[in-house]
Amino acid sequence: MTQEPTTPPREIRKVLVANRGEIAVRVLRGLADLGIRGAVVYSDADRRALPVLLADEAYRIGPAASNESYLRGDAIVELALEIGADAIHPGYGFLSENAGFVRRCDEAGVKFIGPGPEAMAAMGSKIESRRLMRAAGVPVVPGGEDPLADAEEAAAFADSVGYPVMIKASAGGGGKGMRLVREPEKLASAFRAATSEATSSFGDGSVYIEKYIEQPRHVEIQVLADEHGTVVSLGERECSLQRRHQKVVEEAPSPVVDSDLRRRMGEAAVRAAAAVGYTNAGTVEFLLAADGSFYFLEMNTRLQVEHPVTEMVTGLDLVAAQIAIARGEALGPEFHGVEPRGHAIELRLYAEDPYRGFVPSPGTIRLLRWPEGPGVRNDCGVYEGAEVPIHYDPMLGKLIVWGADRDQAIRRLRRAVGELRIEGIETAVPLYAALLADPDFLAGRLDIGMLDRKMEAGELAPAEVSELDDLPVIAAALEHVEAQARRSAEPVARRGARARWREAGLLEGVGRPGWR
Ligand code: ADP
Repeated sequence: MTQEPTTPPREIRKVLVANRGEIAVRVLRGLADLGIRGAVVYSDADRRALPVLLADEAYRIGPAASNESYLRGDAIVELALEIGADAIHPGYGFLSENAGFVRRCDEAGVKFIGPGPEAMAAMGSKIESRRLMRAAGVPVVPGGEDPLADAEEAAAFADSVGYPVMIKASAGGGGKGMRLVREPEKLASAFRAATSEATSSFGDGSVYIEKYIEQPRHVEIQVLADEHGTVVSLGERECSLQRRHQKVVEEAPSPVVDSDLRRRMGEAAVRAAAAVGYTNAGTVEFLLAADGSFYFLEMNTRLQVEHPVTEMVTGLDLVAAQIAIARGEALGPEFHGVEPRGHAIELRLYAEDPYRGFVPSPGTIRLLRWPEGPGVRNDCGVYEGAEVPIHYDPMLGKLIVWGADRDQAIRRLRRAVGELRIEGIETAVPLYAALLADPDFLAGRLDIGMLDRKMEAGELAPAEVSELDDLPVIAAALEHVEAQARRSAEPVARRGARARWREAGLLEGVGRPGWR
């Protein structure tokens, strides 16, 4: 049972959001819903960005480069004190998993909305967290206990567990510093590549080795932990659709997780969080093997990009829960024994071209039309006319749908993708349109390599995406056609605009890839 709080609730009346883009928008909205004042920082590149327009207060923090702006922990804490913010919400990325920043907030007496620095540091190291998880009885991928000294040590381990193996950066994140090795001859070069990538990306070259699980699913558990020792699981998200180890489509619940597996994975995740004295929202990631066994991968000590799918199937507001926990409130009954209701799917929209190796596609968003209607949620960080700067992660936002079951969610997503229109930059919308017709996706047969394999095989060629191209042009053309029909006194066929337009020979080339 939930313990009663022993300390009086902490006042949170103003929160400084130390982030940008869609997650800053999401957090600002959550704050507004709670009647809390939302302030946000911005760099020179984001002067006119959506969070700045939505926030109650916005403060310039520095030039475009992140290490001179969004990563300036000292300046951000100083600003929080100056403007009288009671707390800082870090979003994801940037300072969100920086234990030094959390300590700085603590010292300044500004509440960091997230876990304490010790729990964050313990989970921030893959080697350390594996050790702790094993001790807590959470299953981990078979692998080394310590950083690898050299390629020979890697080879000895690989020989003992058998190939394939994975060399991974201890400080890793975002798929960096990770190398899959299938043959012994490739091990030494993979060791060197992972080490140097880890050094350049994280300033920490230590790497370790683990068994590579063939064609697993990525299934993660959302947990919440209050400051009175209660940890709960809110169920899983299926995040197997990835391009080069980066998630692109997520759903909840997983098509293959039944209530028994959900309970077992949830219990393991709660044990994982409790083992490090975790507080606030966090995500425990697992690899789920084809035989139903699952292994701890890592814990993300922050709000995840894909948190909305959990919100859609639980009816909970995770930002509100984060604030309540930060205020010192105990988790109420609504957080216990949560079972998913219906099905939610999220598509990530990045400014990048999936058919040219996902190269970034910065620029001006010339036209933006978001889908609406039943079950559709837009977590978008940009607006029509906005610039997508080259300096940051190219995520524009997420399109999320909810349906009573997976089939309805997919049908709604198809409809929504048909309505969605983004011009001026490339996105994965044509790829998603193809995916929504893919028999394996429709059947829920997913694994973490599936998207890359299908793209390499050319199975996901860009699909025609919009049934609503240039509505004003179509309307004007129809007017013309109908006026002619009236003159010749012929009845106008009662059919869709597109069909009639096609009939009039006006649709040549429209809607094909490259037309936009
Ligand atoms: P990062 O922190 O860099 O994102 P993770 O450890 O979370 O790295 O792994 C990212 C992705 O790489 C996983 O979602 C999964 O697709 C793949 N992966 C990682 N470790 C293994 C493994 N041992 N076997 C198979 N796939 C793995």
